[in-house]
Amino acid sequence: MTTEALTLVRNYVGGSWQAPNVDHIDTTDPATGDLLGRVPLSDAEAVDAAVQAAKSALPAWRATSPLVRARAIFALRQKLVDHRDELARLVTLDMGKTLDDAYAEVGRGIESVENACGAGTLLKGENLEGVATNVDVEMVRQPVGVVAAITPFNFPAMIPLWFLPYAIVCGNTFVLKPSEQDPLTSVKLFELIDEIEEIPSGVVNLVHGAHDAVNALLDHPDVNAISFVGSAKTGRYIYERSAQTGKRVQALGGAKNAMVVMPDADLDLTLNGVLSSAFGAAGQRCLAGSLLVLVGPRADQDRWLDTIVTAAKELKVGAGSDPGTDVCPLVSPAARERVEDEIEKALAAGAQLILDGRRGGGAGGAELGPTVITGAAADSHVATEELFGPVVTVLGAPDLSAAIELVNHGRYGNASSIFTTSGKAAREYRFGVEAGMVGVNIGVAAPVAWFPFAGWKDSFDGDLHANGTDAVEFYTRKKVVTSRWS
Ligand code: NAD
Repeated sequence: MTTEALTLVRNYVGGSWQAPNVDHIDTTDPATGDLLGRVPLSDAEAVDAAVQAAKSALPAWRATSPLVRARAIFALRQKLVDHRDELARLVTLDMGKTLDDAYAEVGRGIESVENACGAGTLLKGENLEGVATNVDVEMVRQPVGVVAAITPFNFPAMIPLWFLPYAIVCGNTFVLKPSEQDPLTSVKLFELIDEIEEIPSGVVNLVHGAHDAVNALLDHPDVNAISFVGSAKTGRYIYERSAQTGKRVQALGGAKNAMVVMPDADLDLTLNGVLSSAFGAAGQRCLAGSLLVLVGPRADQDRWLDTIVTAAKELKVGAGSDPGTDVCPLVSPAARERVEDEIEKALAAGAQLILDGRRGGGAGGAELGPTVITGAAADSHVATEELFGPVVTVLGAPDLSAAIELVNHGRYGNASSIFTTSGKAAREYRFGVEAGMVGVNIGVAAPVAWFPFAGWKDSFDGDLHANGTDAVEFYTRKKVVTSRWS
């Protein structure tokens, strides 16, 4: 994609690229600050155009055989595999993460597409013969209608793919509203879709924008379901507002993920797991470990803290496109300033910095190195709220049950990890921890497309998670037919 092509980011509506006559904002390269594109802030009219295109395409698409729809998803999978490098480079360019991380992200998105290819199995219903004389009952799955996804900046390739393939293979038509901070990957995704003959015009649509575009989707009477991923505060707002127009909603929100390190933990597994979780993608993952709970006698806690801080000091901060980089820039200078502000507030509240990653922002103004905070109170802001940067707060616990109590005290429950060589401790943690995704000797309990993915507590509003069979449950309505043939 040329720089010129990137200059004006356009909506994709009913199979054609459109430039709505609205205000625009910039999207920039976090590593350099260079302008990459101008993003339209679509208004209610532009959103309505996309919804109407989706609505018009719905009757024919829902009447298309699920096997034919699945073939369209196979074609999408092939396009993504063929363009995986290019998509990864765009993720790095627009969002900032390292190329390896971006490549892995695109791979996880492809896995969701691969799972959706199994529509012939996933969409099967149920039946029960002879519930009364000559009476049989069957349950069939039918699409929900026009569905929309509203997605965050931190996984611009993977998260749209948690929704798009399942939504359309189930016979729905779809509108994506990606993050206004890094929309270029979704533009490429829709350029690839545009080349797939098996996906008719209007089945998928792309609308750029921010709050106004989101509100227009939430209030639109012809949008039947909303899939949201983003911060907890926005998720709650989306859930409440969508409910007012009777929509089905799944809202995956923010997190404060704890990593519990037992005294017996394996050195390599723990160091790799903790460092990549806390500082990979500059802490901008919903699964990032941002609370480190060191368990055991004080001497064990000190030993682990020293080991982790010593290793964190060695991590290289820099551009995501540089193969040597461990810690990429934050998504924008504004994000870096916000996280540094949070660090200042923690210090003012009595915490200490055992590792200070502040470095004036670096080349693009968005760099922040690994930062480790100690001495914070367990119920303090920095120990309980998401900072979304490469910052980890360290707390201690005398034993595992105290650690579990500490972890469960928080209002979030997205993910949590334990590092231990004891199967007994791992089982106890798995049983007791209040989180949707749990890692054992794994710092990022990442989504695997064949399993449901979401958090608990304030990290999630809704019932059905993303991915797995939950995705099919979310994107279909069950219809039960009772028949008598005598
Ligand atoms: P965000 O909530 O700021 O934005 C997410 C989406 O909502 C964007 O498309 C944005 O345009 C829209 N939006 C934001 N504020 C809005 C408002 N007031 N009204 C209407 N629409 C609004 O989130 P972000 O900063 O893009 O992403 C980071 C957050 O997402 C973190 O909290 C992270 O933990 C969370 N996240 C969660 C998961 C998960 O699976 N639970 C995955 C990735 C990211």
